[in-house]
Amino acid sequence: MKPLEKVKAIKEGRLTAEKNIKKLLHEIDKNNKKGKKINAVLEVNSNAVNEAREVDKKIKSGKAGKLAGLGIIVKSAINVKGLHASCASKVLEDYESPYDATVIEKIKKEDGIILGMANCDEFASGSSGENSAFGNTLNPAALDRVPGGSSSGSAASVAADFCDLALGSDTGGSIRNPASHCGVVGMKPTYGSVSRYGLIDLAMSLDQIAPVAKDVESCKLLFDVIKGADEKDPISEDFQKFISTPATSSLTRRPTLAHHAYSPPKKLRNKFSHFNLNKIKIGIPKIKISDERIMNVIKKKLDETARDKNWEIKEIDLKHLDLAVQTYYPIVYVEFFSGTRKLDGRRFGKKFEEAAGVEALRRMLGGEEISKAEYEGTYYRKALKAKEIIKKEFEKAFEKFDALILPAAPSLPWKFSERPSFEEEYAYDALTIPANLAEICAISVPAGHIDSVPVGMQIFCKKFDEDFMFSLASEF
Ligand code: GLN
Repeated sequence: MKPLEKVKAIKEGRLTAEKNIKKLLHEIDKNNKKGKKINAVLEVNSNAVNEAREVDKKIKSGKAGKLAGLGIIVKSAINVKGLHASCASKVLEDYESPYDATVIEKIKKEDGIILGMANCDEFASGSSGENSAFGNTLNPAALDRVPGGSSSGSAASVAADFCDLALGSDTGGSIRNPASHCGVVGMKPTYGSVSRYGLIDLAMSLDQIAPVAKDVESCKLLFDVIKGADEKDPISEDFQKFISTPATSSLTRRPTLAHHAYSPPKKLRNKFSHFNLNKIKIGIPKIKISDERIMNVIKKKLDETARDKNWEIKEIDLKHLDLAVQTYYPIVYVEFFSGTRKLDGRRFGKKFEEAAGVEALRRMLGGEEISKAEYEGTYYRKALKAKEIIKKEFEKAFEKFDALILPAAPSLPWKFSERPSFEEEYAYDALTIPANLAEICAISVPAGHIDSVPVGMQIFCKKFDEDFMFSLASEF
């Protein structure tokens, strides 16, 4: 049963929250450490069944929320009170969260049940799940291949039916990449649309928390619960602001494009999700990828879906797309280095330098080096300038197109025995990183298979255009 149907069934008394949660816990028990050893879940919430019983009581009194009785697994980089936000690192292995991140507070308010904490690449650094200090996560859709990363355990948990929904974080593709490899749906929201309070971030100017789900509708369900301004995160903003106020900035919705031909702003508040999807403009960025079969899967999916519609589909040349990887890493290195300075072994966990793994150390040391005074203006600032150029280029693209479509990853997930060099791994994020640099929203949806391995298709839309993006994604 899809999560939305489940909530309905739970509210109508055809299923109980307790039964749902027990079933999910049983799946975790059966396949996470034993049997197929998916190793997607690092810790299970021992109170989950009690919490489910409380939700069942609320249902009887007719007061249950939008996520009533759904089981949710959370990336170990997000604080959930009483559970371990270890970031899959020895550094924070014993760190028990003293508080709930804002997104968790919101989930609990809507009666979602946190089932446990997901494995991931250490400190969200990686694209395969292989950087976890607590072992690899297997890909439930292709057991000999990596599940993608860094939110490896979140995507694998959804694919393995360990939960109804999951949360990950995405700095440069960490949700879309594993979602694509595990054959599920994962999104990266507009920068600033979800509070980062309580997230142990990789790079503060890029990170966003977001859902992983089996279908687009339930991805939207969880996103709608967690989105919105939060006084604890100064960059977080309210959607309503962008929907109801015709801003003069680039965030303005332009009525020139078909799906934006809507009624005056005030009326729009409740009708936002009804788009005219019959006549839209889709851009296909010109890219070179090593595995041509992937582009063929994407084009086939697009052709099939567009068949009965008046979609205008055109190639688009994004000149600075090639700069994305080189722009991203200096930003990540420097911001990560800065973030690790609180991990001095006194307040939280162990001293970073003594307990972190290879990739996390590489980033911290690299960040320390390039933020030295003698390099002032050479790396970080230059990268920020390049980021602005890329952002502008996307803003321009969205003057002509409603959405851009491209693969989520340039190749199939590699086999555990065939791990590429770290430079190759960095380059592997070339198709997801641009959305983070441009601060736009993006989603990966299943597009097909190659040799039974899932292939994900990305949709990019402009800032705060999530509702349209979900509507379009559900067409696929
Ligand atoms: N794979 C990318 C990296 O290693 C993305 C990570 C992320 O989005 N957290 O930085």
